[in-house]
Amino acid sequence: MHSGYSPKTGDPLVAPVVQSTTYAYDSCQEIADLFDLKAEGHMYSRISNPTVDVFEKKMNALEGGVGALALSSGQAASTVAVLNICEAGDHLVALSTLYGGTFNLFKHTFKKLGIDVTFVAPDLSPEAIRSAFKDNTKLLFGESLSNPGTRVLDFDKFSSIAQEFDVPFIVDNTFPTPYLCKPLLLGANIVLHSTTKYTDGHATSVGGIIIDGGNYNWNNGKFPGLTKPDESYHGLTYTEAFGSAAYIVKARAQWVRDFGCYMSPQNAFLSTRGLETLHLRMERHSANALALAQFLENHEKVSWVAYPMLENDPQYRLCTKYLTAGSGVLTFGVEGGREKAEQMINALRLAKKVVHVADVRTGVLHPASMTHRQLNEKDQRLAGILPELIRVSVGIESAEDILADFSQALEVI
Ligand code: PLP
Repeated sequence: MHSGYSPKTGDPLVAPVVQSTTYAYDSCQEIADLFDLKAEGHMYSRISNPTVDVFEKKMNALEGGVGALALSSGQAASTVAVLNICEAGDHLVALSTLYGGTFNLFKHTFKKLGIDVTFVAPDLSPEAIRSAFKDNTKLLFGESLSNPGTRVLDFDKFSSIAQEFDVPFIVDNTFPTPYLCKPLLLGANIVLHSTTKYTDGHATSVGGIIIDGGNYNWNNGKFPGLTKPDESYHGLTYTEAFGSAAYIVKARAQWVRDFGCYMSPQNAFLSTRGLETLHLRMERHSANALALAQFLENHEKVSWVAYPMLENDPQYRLCTKYLTAGSGVLTFGVEGGREKAEQMINALRLAKKVVHVADVRTGVLHPASMTHRQLNEKDQRLAGILPELIRVSVGIESAEDILADFSQALEVI
């Protein structure tokens, strides 16, 4: 709540929205020093901005990193996090349970850029996972809690393999948020978020962020982009100039400068506001989701429920090991397949039909008829999308009201 901005006497209590593209200086030398990364300060809001800086500092403090970079979306965060250390001819290993948008980015778009990806299922044996690594593998990528499957990342298994092959371990911590899970304490080197989700938490701002743990030694010959002079930056060598913060400085100085995908001041302001209640919201989202999961688990018209904090859920052991609560997303199936699932969703009154997750309001999605409708049923099943699967993003309304809504909708089918 308090980190990232300390108002001095007479200053606004709330960090203001600095809606300015640029910043005025007294001399050419001052601006030259900013360009050379010799002085700290802002010069152009494509690269940094005081309002976004407050948000970056708060997220960095929450995750325990050495620096953060806010971006225009979660997709931009995944793209920059990888391209900062991977180029044509390189390879990466990723978990197969990633959010569909990240999966597409890796499988199709990175392929077009000459980056090869091997997906590994989370349950594979360590030997099978090791066999996915090649001489040109540059990183391992996973989600701490997967979307939509709510699979919990086995941090010990995957971080030890990343260490064995001496590659950085990048973790998307969107669903648990740093309040429920701290990847940098569990073996991750870089953490990223779609801040569009629980960070903002009120469905107002699309955004992303990368946080550098500063705990990976880039000087192993695999990352010349960090350890050799950057021609596009007057021959600057990031590891020499910035030590443990080399990765995050390069991401800003090179990729955000060139791709122009920085967060806007207004979205940073709203996301900072969201962060101020993150601890309260995540507790309530998790408590409500557990209450709904327990209710559904005992309902005769429900065939299965997946929520990692249910004691008989296969994810329970990992969830209690690495997370302090289960977050707000669950999936379940109704008896009677797709038709009944759609009927039930249509009968919900309080829960909104939305493709978004992680909002204060409860929302539901039927992937088979919404996000995955272009796939035929066989391909949907391959992607883990069963016809009857309903994803619920449980909000922070009264649990009694949420349960009453699902109860009356299940009565209808
Ligand atoms: N990572 C996860 C886990 C997500 O759920 C999403 C979006 O749903 C993203 C990344 C992409 O984020 P954005 O929609 O902000 O681009």
